[in-house]
Amino acid sequence: MSRVLIVGAGGVGGVVTHKCAQAADVFTDICLASRTLAKCDAIARQLKRPIRTAVLNADKPAETVALIRSFKPDLLINVALPYQDLALMEACLAAGVDYLDSANYEPPNKAKFEYKWQWAYRNRFRKAGRMALLGCGFDPGVSNIFCAYALKKYFDTIEAVDILDCNAGSHGHPFATNFNPEINIREITQRGKYWERGRWVETDPLSMHRSFDFPEIGAREMYLMYHEELESLVRHLPGLKRIRFWMTFGEQYLTHLRVLQNVGMTRIDPVLYEGREIVPLKFLKAVLPEPSSLGRNYTGKTNIGCVIQGTRNGKQGTIYIYNVCDHAACYREVKAQAISYTTGVPIMIGARLVVTGVWRKPGVFNTEEFDPEPFMELLPKYGLPWVVKRLRRAPELG
Ligand code: NDP
Repeated sequence: MSRVLIVGAGGVGGVVTHKCAQAADVFTDICLASRTLAKCDAIARQLKRPIRTAVLNADKPAETVALIRSFKPDLLINVALPYQDLALMEACLAAGVDYLDSANYEPPNKAKFEYKWQWAYRNRFRKAGRMALLGCGFDPGVSNIFCAYALKKYFDTIEAVDILDCNAGSHGHPFATNFNPEINIREITQRGKYWERGRWVETDPLSMHRSFDFPEIGAREMYLMYHEELESLVRHLPGLKRIRFWMTFGEQYLTHLRVLQNVGMTRIDPVLYEGREIVPLKFLKAVLPEPSSLGRNYTGKTNIGCVIQGTRNGKQGTIYIYNVCDHAACYREVKAQAISYTTGVPIMIGARLVVTGVWRKPGVFNTEEFDPEPFMELLPKYGLPWVVKRLRRAPELG
């Protein structure tokens, strides 16, 4: 018996709402709130059971506090944007509820995401007896849990991790992003960064690339990027010597991105247009397809997982833990594409573990800080089966 307030009615918010509605044994009352009420109501109409909907500007803690006081949730799930993380954490502290999100805070005027702003809330959450679970989507989220599971079940120490994110699907648009375009393009156009032998190594954006043979998909070119789970896993995996993150992109996507960058459309600083300031990337977001609209004709699969090299009883080994997800199957089930689905399902599972007390303690945490087994058991039950493949040797990732 628990009440959950979901903030954000985009691609991921839709999946989280569907999945919480399916888990009626735990989530007895659901409220979906977002900036645009019509989007909440459209999702509510897809469900088999009634939920409450509300309009909310999550940048204003006082508005969120008022909604929390009227709905009285046990947990607030933030699936709006990373810009809202701190305002929603403040509101949760003020109104006395737990908090969960899937992407770490970044300031709107600087494309730089770091956990330091949210980790700084640790003592306040601990003292208030409240919990915040950070980054509980797929990557971050399940990628961290795969590492914790490998450490529990397969290795005494983990020496190297490569997180691989492959979307081999096709949505039929010349250019679209699978999650919020503004956040996605800010992330991809940043300098690359990975951790090796105790220090961070920077690379030019998308300059390092390798091929990997993805199970159920085949060989795809993937590009090294910085991703937020690297920061927490470096802190939480003792003995780690190297960790990197790779994402696949097709030539068509990269060509569009290059052109958009070259003409200045990915800039995040305001420019003067017809007497008023606009941010080019925000304007670009307004003309690109919304992630929640991509599902209908999406075909193909995703494969997201971790290549993990470790040692058990002095013997080295390598495993690939991964999930394969089919875009069309996701659409049939919850009217969403696989990127929203693979993010929304772990959010619901994390929420379930928090509200049922299995993963609950006061403070601010990342997913790898908890016992991975209850989470791994629930993943296939809610639509994300996983596979552990032993590799005879580490793949040639350089
Ligand atoms: P969308 O753009 O589809 O949805 C974002 C939603 O948030 C929209 O409904 C938007 O409202 C709402 N919103 C934005 N600002 C506010 C505000 N101030 N107050 C209230 N609501 C607001 O994005 P996605 O659903 O694709 O992504 C959601 C989150 O999930 C992002 O933070 C993204 O980074 C994260 N994510 C995490 C992944 C992981 O694996 N960990 C993977 C993919 C995404 P409106 O419709 O009015 O604009």
